[in-house]
Amino acid sequence: MADQPEATETCAVCGNVATGGRRFSRLYHQGKAFPLCCPMCIDVFQRAPDRFARGEHPQTITAELIEQLKWQSD
Ligand SMILES: [Zn+2]
Repeated sequence: MADQPEATETCAVCGNVATGGRRFSRLYHQGKAFPLCCPMCIDVFQRAPDRFARGEHPQTITAELIEQLKWQSD
């Protein structure tokens, strides 16, 4: 076993598996790494990085951000 198995990472925003080829990017905030699976999740993360870093529920943050975006587009 020469190869180290890659630890499974999940997208910090949507919770999808974001390991290897399925990881789109990884952002660092307050010294922590946050795997992200797609440009949309990066966008969401960058709107509230402090909240994700604090360990708030990603689903709660995402739902609130989506509501805010809806209001802005009206
Ligand atoms: Zn994602």
